[in-house]
Amino acid sequence: ESFNAAVASADALNAFIVATPEKALEAADAVDAARAGGKPLGPMAGVPIGMKDLFCTKGVQSTAASHILEGFVPEYESTVSANLWSAGAGMLGKLNMDQFAMGSSNETSHFGPVKSPWKKTGSNATLTPGGSSGGSSAAIAARLCPAATGTDTGGSIRQPAAITGTVGIKPTYGRCSRWGVVAFASSLDQAGPMARSVEDCAIMLGAMAGFDPKDSTSLDAPVPDWFGSLNADLKGKKVGIPREYRMEGIDPAIDASWEQGKEWLRDAGAEVIEMSLPHTKYALPAYYIVAPAEASSNLARYDGVRYGLRDLPEGAGLQDMYAATRAAGFGDEVKRRIMLGTYVLSAGFYDAYYTQAQKIRTLVQRDFDAAFAQCDVILAPTTPTPAFALGELQADPLAMYMNDVFAVPASLAGLPAMSVPATLTEDGLPLGLQIVGKAMDEQSVLNAGLAIE
Ligand code: GLN
Repeated sequence: ESFNAAVASADALNAFIVATPEKALEAADAVDAARAGGKPLGPMAGVPIGMKDLFCTKGVQSTAASHILEGFVPEYESTVSANLWSAGAGMLGKLNMDQFAMGSSNETSHFGPVKSPWKKTGSNATLTPGGSSGGSSAAIAARLCPAATGTDTGGSIRQPAAITGTVGIKPTYGRCSRWGVVAFASSLDQAGPMARSVEDCAIMLGAMAGFDPKDSTSLDAPVPDWFGSLNADLKGKKVGIPREYRMEGIDPAIDASWEQGKEWLRDAGAEVIEMSLPHTKYALPAYYIVAPAEASSNLARYDGVRYGLRDLPEGAGLQDMYAATRAAGFGDEVKRRIMLGTYVLSAGFYDAYYTQAQKIRTLVQRDFDAAFAQCDVILAPTTPTPAFALGELQADPLAMYMNDVFAVPASLAGLPAMSVPATLTEDGLPLGLQIVGKAMDEQSVLNAGLAIE
């Protein structure tokens, strides 16, 4: 009843920026050819997937949903997408997203917002599929594709998954190569799979991950067989419940789903314990200093010389071209981040803001280190509210930033974190639960997710 069939088509959802069905068909043909030739099939053989437009795809426009990169057709393929094609997947198209992955509602896209296929029972308000991977979450929720890539800098896989009833996992920082992924905040950016089930995410993550010498922060570690080791029996496992996540202003339905999640994990054999992550409340403000600081540096390359848009007014000099190109090419939220970032990195304010934020980041990391001496995984809500209506938070950036309050601590610490669908609100909207694990221990995260799913 709460599924909005009226908008659950590719055109109405606005989930795709570019469609490439021919590439998906090629992958399907390759399966036939491999079968005929008696060759082995890859783990993603023939699976048609959506690619978030943050990934550079050779010969296919890659814009990060921005105007400044409109018309940019990369000469190269991102490592993650190349890995997926080698595993047999085929690309259905490039998915809409928040511009440069900055946002939580998909409303910062130059190509217009993505709509959720969900609606509240008794209301026709169009809801957000979340962001920044909102094209991915909407396309999966509407069954336009079985799986898609996402990226998560401070919640952009988990928040859209949570509010569309889909599954998404951000692996340990460094598991998936950042090479060929448009950079937002390099010390936080991490790619991951989004799909309909924990099983599908485990298979797809296995295909995406792996050491890449082209990314200096890539983890030089073998990729475990996550899918083959899935196990929903949690006997002997300890699940931590961080008391600081019980914040004021949290929707009561979120609390109820958290309680339900604890029960499911107990049923699966786990012991559920209370624990503390004392610096939680400082994580979001620290994130909104570190992420814009890195973004302001990463986005300096869009100058009208090398990529995409060039705005060269009559008789203008080089500086004028930079200014005109960036003024026309970046959206409001991107400009806000650049201004925040350059401000906190400026000589007079660096210590007061940037250095402070980095210290907080260390404290948040230490909180997790201490917590994981007591438990195997942490269970928390993914978001403080269910999906909100398009337009509802657009004028209030701080309210928008609050969406990621539960997601950013794991990002600052570089830890694997997943959102799995848990319960529905009274008016029929999906709610997700978040599982955070130790560095490199995606397996425990996936296993706990399987027990909830
Ligand atoms: N919503 C957060 C932001 O706008 C997180 C984005 C992300 O993870 N890419 O920064």
